Amino acid sequence: MTQSVTGSVPRQLFVGGRWVDAEAGATFPVLNPATGEEIAQVADASPADAMAALDAAVEAQPAFAATTALERHEILMTAFRLLHERIEDLALLMTTEMGKPLKDSRGEITYAAEFFRHFAAEALRIDGGYQAAPQGGARFLVARQPVGPSLLITPWNFPMAMGTRKIGPAIAAGCTSVVKPAHQTPLSMLALMDVLREAGVPDGVVNCFTATDAGGTTEPLIRSGKARKLSFTGSTRVGRILLEQSAEKVLRTSMELGGNAPFVVFEDADLEEAVAGALQAKMRNMGEACTAANRIYVHESLIEEFGARMAEQMGALTVGDGTHEGVDVGPLVDEAGLEKVRSLVADAVGRGATVLTGGEQVEGPGFFYRPTVLTGVPTDARMAGEEIFGPVAPLTPFSTEEEAVRLANDTEFGLVSYVFTNDLRRALRVAEALESGMVGLNQAVVSNPYAPFGGIKQSGLGREGGAEGIEEFLETKYVGIALS
Ligand code: ADP
Repeated sequence: MTQSVTGSVPRQLFVGGRWVDAEAGATFPVLNPATGEEIAQVADASPADAMAALDAAVEAQPAFAATTALERHEILMTAFRLLHERIEDLALLMTTEMGKPLKDSRGEITYAAEFFRHFAAEALRIDGGYQAAPQGGARFLVARQPVGPSLLITPWNFPMAMGTRKIGPAIAAGCTSVVKPAHQTPLSMLALMDVLREAGVPDGVVNCFTATDAGGTTEPLIRSGKARKLSFTGSTRVGRILLEQSAEKVLRTSMELGGNAPFVVFEDADLEEAVAGALQAKMRNMGEACTAANRIYVHESLIEEFGARMAEQMGALTVGDGTHEGVDVGPLVDEAGLEKVRSLVADAVGRGATVLTGGEQVEGPGFFYRPTVLTGVPTDARMAGEEIFGPVAPLTPFSTEEEAVRLANDTEFGLVSYVFTNDLRRALRVAEALESGMVGLNQAVVSNPYAPFGGIKQSGLGREGGAEGIEEFLETKYVGIALS
C-alpha cells in the first residue's frame, strides 16, 4: 500500500530541470505520522547542492524575465488543470506523509491549484503608468519588473498550498525560484515539481531541494546575495533569524509567521453558528494551522452552553488514519508536535482549567491526540501565549466588549481574529479594533487565494494571494523622461 502511494514520486533534488542525487547520495527518511513507519527516503541536500539549485535559478532568470505574460499565464493554467487531474493520487500522497484526512488533502490540493489560476490571471494584469510631472516639462514612466531569483521556504502543515502561493506569483511575475519544503513533508512538493515540469516550466525556472539541515543549506543562499527575494512561511522564531540574515544583502522579504488567533463569541451571536464556527476554526488541519483558533473567548452568559455543545461535537469526531473512510481527525505531524500539545494541556489543567472532553493522546502507534475542549483556561496559561498547533480548544469567559478586545489583542501576534456577533455596529467596531491582518466576521475560514492573506505585529510582513500577492515579486522602476 505505502509502496504504491510513493512508488512513482520523485525523491531527488530538482535542479535546472533535472532530477539529481544529493552529494554523496545522502538521503533522509520520511515517516507516515499515522503509523510512525518510514514511507520513503529522499535526497538530503548539502549546502553545495542548495547553491547549485540557486545557481540554476540565477542562470534561468534573464530568459524567464523576457517571456510574455501570456506564456506564463498558460504555464500556470496548465499546472492548475494537471493538479485537478491528479488530485486523487496527490491527496493520498499528502495524507500519507502529513496525516490529514483524505478529504482535507483533496481540499488542500484544490486550494493549492486555485493559486495557480488566480496568479495566471494576475500575470496578465501587471501594469505600469505614464504621467505628466506636476511641475511640467517631464513625464514619468512607471514599469514593473520581476524582483529576480527567489528563495521560497515552506512549512509542513500545508505541504502543497504553501508552495503554490509562492511559486504561483513568482512565475506570474517572471521570477525564477528555489523551493525548500519542510523535511517532514517533502514528497508533495517533489510531486508538484513534476507537475510544473509537465506544465511547461522552462528548465531552471523552478528548482527544489530537500534537506534535514534547513539552516545550514539556506543561510549561504540568503547571504550570497544571488537570491534577491526570500519568501518564508513558518515560525516567528525562524522568521526572525531569516530577517537578520536577509539584512546583509538587503533582500526583499515576505514573512508568513506564527499566529495566536482569538475567537470571540459575543452574547448576541447565533450560538449554533458560533459553535460550528469554533469547531471549524479550531479543527481545520487538526489545529495545525497558523490561522487556527488558539484562544476562544466566550461571553460569560453563554460559556456553559457553548462549552457543552462544543465538547459534544468535538467528542463525536472520529480520530484515525487519514486514509481510512469516515475519519475526521488525523494524527499530529510528529512526536514533537504531540509532546507540545501534551505539555500545554498539562500546564493549563495545572493552572485550574477543566477538561470537558479529550485531554489525552490516543494509545498505540502514530501521533494521535483526542479532540479536546478545556474551559476556564486562565489568561496566564502557556497556551494563551503560544500556538497550540493541535486539536485543543481552550475556552475563557469575558464580560464586556472592552475586555474581549483587550484580551484578543494581548499577544505579540496579529495574523487573524474571529468574531461572532449579530450586532452590525459591534461587528464593525470590533473588527476595526482588533490588531490582526485578517478578521473573520461570523466566518471561521479566511484563507482564500483571491484575498490578501497575512499578518501584522510579529505574525509577518507582506501579503500572499489577492492582488497584493504578485506585488511581493515585482519591483517598481520609474523612468523620468525629459520632453525638451
Ligand atoms: P515549524 O515549527 O512549523 O516546523 P519552522 O519555522 O521550524 O516551523 O519551519 C518552517 C520551515 O522553515 C521548514 O521548511 C523548515 O525546514 C525551515 N527552517 C527551520 N529552521 C530554519 C532555519 N534556521 N533556517 C532556514 N529555514 C529553517
